[in-house]
Amino acid sequence: MHLVCMLKLALQKFPQRIVFLQLFHLVSISKRGDVIPAVEEVIEKGKILSPFKIIKICPSCNHELFIEGAHLFCMNDECPKRLLGTLQYFVSRGQMDIESLGDKTLEFLFDKGFIKYINEFMV
Ligand SMILES: [Zn+2]
Repeated sequence: MHLVCMLKLALQKFPQRIVFLQLFHLVSISKRGDVIPAVEEVIEKGKILSPFKIIKICPSCNHELFIEGAHLFCMNDECPKRLLGTLQYFVSRGQMDIESLGDKTLEFLFDKGFIKYINEFMV
């Protein structure tokens, strides 16, 4: 299957093999079981734009990021985005399934300092 890339960029198999998709690149893709299709090759290059730079510092807490597989992780246990993400996962469907605590409500409570850690649910 061929696809003309209409997005500015995407990463595939980061960081072992990085494929930079630029605007109007014609690429060959295949489905390998992931949600995001695998980019097999760039068939025809489009307009060259500025190269994508992998961030090394967490935009939330300025802590150095750790690369594992295709993911970047902030290793700061007190990182606000990590703490909020942990809370959002905890209340989500398939976990505690607390329907009255959606992401926006949880974010509001977190930002106001009403809740920060999971154990604060256990009162
Ligand atoms: Zn962080």
